[in-house]
Amino acid sequence: MMFEKLKEYGTEEIHFCNDKESGLNAIVAIHSTVLGPTVGGTRFWPYENEERALFDVLRLSRGMTYKNAVSGLKYGGSKGVIIGDPAKLKTEKLLLAYARFVEHLNGLFTTGEDVNISVKDVEIMSRVTKHMAGIGGEGRGGDPSPYTARGVFAGMRAGAKEKFGSDSLKDKTVAVQGLGKVGYDLCKWLHKDGAKLIVADINEENVERAKKELGATAVGTSEILFADCDVFSPNAMGAVIKADDVSKLKCKLVAGGANNVLVDGSAGDALDKTGVLYIPDYVINAGGVISICLEIERVHDENIANKKMDGIYDNVKNLLDFAKKEGLPTYLAADKYAQKIVDDARKQKG
Ligand code: NAD
Repeated sequence: MMFEKLKEYGTEEIHFCNDKESGLNAIVAIHSTVLGPTVGGTRFWPYENEERALFDVLRLSRGMTYKNAVSGLKYGGSKGVIIGDPAKLKTEKLLLAYARFVEHLNGLFTTGEDVNISVKDVEIMSRVTKHMAGIGGEGRGGDPSPYTARGVFAGMRAGAKEKFGSDSLKDKTVAVQGLGKVGYDLCKWLHKDGAKLIVADINEENVERAKKELGATAVGTSEILFADCDVFSPNAMGAVIKADDVSKLKCKLVAGGANNVLVDGSAGDALDKTGVLYIPDYVINAGGVISICLEIERVHDENIANKKMDGIYDNVKNLLDFAKKEGLPTYLAADKYAQKIVDDARKQKG
């Protein structure tokens, strides 16, 4: 059953880790090393059973391979999951046990933040392994969010060019869901470009700030998806768009930083049928991982980093061209396009 799963996902390796003293149970999936050593975050989650944890790590690590591939990175994809309730289990001892496990993998797996793993946790783990990224300090990359936001803006411009004929967002109305680290910075880029902003956040302070600093109009969190706008930009949680809601959308373009925006493939099909252009999440929100790869390579040049983020414009354009050529909805085209990059690289390696 285990090997069937690995075959189904195309996963190269699975590593299990058990540390009796700290209670650590973790799984690391090395999905693909075809493009290079692997990068992927680590999440801490109270999975209802081991099978769910395995399913998650297989799915997420393949997602990382695809994200890295479409972003032109010379890194493969991987992911780590720590099983259990972080509120009860997360201790320094456990984090260090996990970090030693990462160190054993000797650079095959570089990891960092994800759900329930904070920058502070990553800093603790980096005491015992150099294969942690996304932290502050001398010679490190720091918070990747501003890069992610810059990349999302570039990708949105490429989407706008395709949908509206111009890559300027000037006078376009953009509905932004979530004004956190990525969403707020994105709003700044949009405001600078002359876009009109409609915003929503469960955090009132963020909303007030956007109204005051960026002249945004606020709507309720249940209204933002259906707001009268040209572009809907999800930057909060995942599973935002379901097929049943698509006929009620007023936007023509969906482009944002959030992961796993579509509830499932039927939402992607419905968007495609309705003529709403969806920019796949992992293509447009890759700024964070790009900055992490620069950190791994110890490249600390703001100009190089910014150029790479702006390059997401071309990554999105290439994907949209591929989707058109293949006659596929963009969410399906992205996976096929990424898989093709990996397969071509494998062939070249011989
Ligand atoms: P964040 O926690 O800083 O911001 C999320 C914001 O969404 C918060 O302000 C929160 O109050 C708001 N929010 C939560 N639920 C909401 C709801 N129902 N309606 C409206 N607003 C709501 O997180 P972030 O780092 O800005 O990340 C945002 C999204 O982008 C996440 O899905 C994350 O996985 C994804 N992402 C982030 C990065 C990065 O570099 N930070 C990289 C890739 C993807």
